[in-house]
This record gives sequence, structure tokens and C-alpha cells, in this order.
Amino acid sequence: MRSISVFGATGSIGESTFDLVMRAGGPAAFRTVALTGGRNVARLAEMARALQAEIAVTAHDDCLPALRAALAGSRIAVAAGAEAIAEAADRPAEWVMSAIVGAAGLVPGLRALRRGAILALANKESLVTAGPLLMASAARHGGTILPVDSEHSAIFQALVGEDMAAVERIIITASGGALRDWPLERLAHATVAEALAHPNWAMGARITIDSASMFNKALEVIEAREFFDVKPDQIEVIIHPESIIHSLVGFHDGAVMAHLGAPDMRHPIGYALNWPVRSPLPVARLDLAALGQLTFRAPDLARYPALRLAREVMAVRGQAGAAFNAAKEIALDHFMAGAIGFQDMAAVVEDTLARISAETRLGNAVSTLEDVLHMDHLARVRAAEAAGQRSKGR
Ligand code: NAD
Ligand code: MG
Repeated sequence: MRSISVFGATGSIGESTFDLVMRAGGPAAFRTVALTGGRNVARLAEMARALQAEIAVTAHDDCLPALRAALAGSRIAVAAGAEAIAEAADRPAEWVMSAIVGAAGLVPGLRALRRGAILALANKESLVTAGPLLMASAARHGGTILPVDSEHSAIFQALVGEDMAAVERIIITASGGALRDWPLERLAHATVAEALAHPNWAMGARITIDSASMFNKALEVIEAREFFDVKPDQIEVIIHPESIIHSLVGFHDGAVMAHLGAPDMRHPIGYALNWPVRSPLPVARLDLAALGQLTFRAPDLARYPALRLAREVMAVRGQAGAAFNAAKEIALDHFMAGAIGFQDMAAVVEDTLARISAETRLGNAVSTLEDVLHMDHLARVRAAEAAGQRSKGR
């Protein structure tokens, strides 16, 4: 029986993972070690009871009494705080879902890899922030990273049995998000609610807004560069509004392999959960005749400055990814709080990268976790300053 832990169990990816595990038989099919969540301790406790987890951990110290009360009478241990989440990753689960949102997912993922676990990685932020650390940690300790981002899972599946030397390019599809068809001049006035109305995917709030701004795609381009170890100019982005082709790989004989399926995260999660076996999954089957057609268009870089910034980040590499991700998280916080406009997010990130370049070398190598955490912190401070200036100017 495979043992599992789920970090970010109460989120969108965590719920889909829970759904698949329960359908497979729950505690009869998997031995659950740790489940972690945030403030929704009622749901975390419910999941922990259903899966008979060893331990449930909330990210927030002030939520610990409520979690303890919710699990009273069970044999499930409880804990709280970032260090407790990291310690939960040390517990021996063979398969670990990394589905915390943001750079907070980095440390638990690294800790799981360090003991040779299979890390199902939804948390793209950790590859963007510290790709070389994660990849080296997996290689050194016999850990395995399986991409869960739908695009990267698609590419991973298209590469099974292939030689990386035969890969010419990777083509990442993008839905274009909620504001895809808006006139450019209206974007500055887009509200949080408008950016949250994603046409195809039901996801957490943060990634949904990142889809509208294409910061999500920018992160994914960098994620692909880190995970598949291809050159930046081998990665293309194409807008595909139907979200049926999840990504493609082009080979040097001209063949292009595409991965198609209904837009349902339970496919890439289930693929990673059952890997290396391909098992039946409860996702809708494609009806191509009903779909009729699939459409594509090139992304407009004026509309999506995040994609241009991703290219700049890849050109610098080093700690630029950590700065980029952290600045993006802060810019998103300010947009969600109503302090800055939709298009100010890219301006804040660009401004942050410029500020940091003026005081330190963004291109310095990522050699230790401390380097990364230091850059992450610096970028958050500078991004808050940049966002503060923009909100005053509004
Ligand atoms: P979500 O907001 O729905 O859930 C996030 C989870 O992380 C929750 O359990 C929350 O309690 C926990 N969390 C939040 N902040 C935390 C912190 N500081 N410390 C510890 N735990 C914290 O997010 P989501 O949409 O499920 O996304 C999770 C990750 O998966 C993100 O990295 C996202 O980019 C990635 N991803 C999501 C989707 C999707 O369809 N939702 C698709 C591809 C990739
Ligand atoms: Mg994706």
C-alpha cells in the first residue's frame, strides 16, 4: 500500500487529490501520513478522519486549538506553523502532493525530496524560485519529481520513451484567462471579480487571477525550463481558448506530440498518483465531433507583459526566478486588496526586478536554500515599496 501526504490538502488541488484517493478506497487503498491546510481546520479535520491520517497540520498557530478540538477523540496528531509543516514532510510518506500555494511550498517539497520521496509537484512556484535546488536534491537523494501542472504533465507524458536530444521545442498552451477577449484599454480597470471568472478551469483564487494576467503562464515557462532542462528559446506559448490540448512537444523529425483531454486537474493529479502505472480515472471523455474545432492564436506581448518578463528572468537565471515569483506574489496581494490596478501587477514586478538589480546581482547562482530565502524576502520588501508607490499614485 502506497503511503501518501498532501500539503495544501484543503485547496483546489488538495480537494481533487482527496477525491481521487477516496474514490480509490481511501484508507483501504492508501496509508495517509500527513495532511496540511490553512484556516479551514474543519475541512482539514474531516479529511484527516476520512483518511485516518497520522497527523494534521495547520499553517496558523492560532488555528491549533480549533484543529485539536475538531480531532478530539481520534488518534490523529495535530500541529501548527511553518516548521511543523516542514517536519511533517520529513515523515516517511512515499508519495507527497505539493499543493500549497506560493513560495511557502518550497521547504516542505525540498524536505520530502531529501528523503527520496516521489514529489507530485503542483506548486510551480518552488521550481521557479529554486529550480536548481529541487532538481539537485532529487538527483542526490533519489527523489522523483512528477509535474502536476496540467501543461507539464502533458509534456511529461508526451516524452515517455523519447530521447530528450530529439526534442526541438516545447509548446505550452494557455487559455488566455478571464480577460482574454477584453479590449486592451479596458484591462487597467479590471476588478478582482472579473479576473476571477475563468472560462475553463475551476482553481484557487490566486492562480485564477494569474491566468488572466498570464503570470501563471510566465511561471509555467520558467517551470518548464527548469524541469525539462531545455533552452528558453525552445519554449513557445500559444493561446488555445478551449483548453483541450494541454501542451505539445515538437521533435527534430518534425513530429509534434500533443496531449488532449477534458480540462480536469484530476487527470494530471491521478497520473502522478498512479505513476508509473496508467490507471482508470473519473474524468470526462473527449468528444471531438461535439467540440467541432480547436482554435489557436499567438499571444500579444503588449497585452501580456508577464510573458516578456519571464523571458528576461530566464536570460538572467540565477536568483531572478526567486525575485520574480516573490514580487508577483506581493503584486497579486495588492491587486486582490484593491490597492493597485490589474496592469499595475506587471509594472510592480518589473519595477522590483529593476530595484533589486540596482543593489545586488540577480544572476548570482542559487546554491543554498538561504540564498533563495534571502532573495525571496528582499523581493517582497522591494515589491511592497513599488506597490505602495503605485497605490498612492492612483
Ligand atoms: P488554493 O488556494 O486552492 O489552496 C492552497 C492550499 O495551500 C490550501 O490548503 C491552503 O490552506 C494552503 N496554504 C496557503 N498558504 C499557505 C502557507 N503560507 N503555508 C502553508 N499552507 C498554505 O490553491 P490551488 O489552486 O489548489 O493551487 C495550489 C498550487 O497548485 C499552486 O502552486 C498552484 O499554482 C498550483 N496549481 C493549481 C492548479 C489548479 O487547478 N488549482 C493547476 C495547476 C497548478
Ligand atoms: Mg497550468
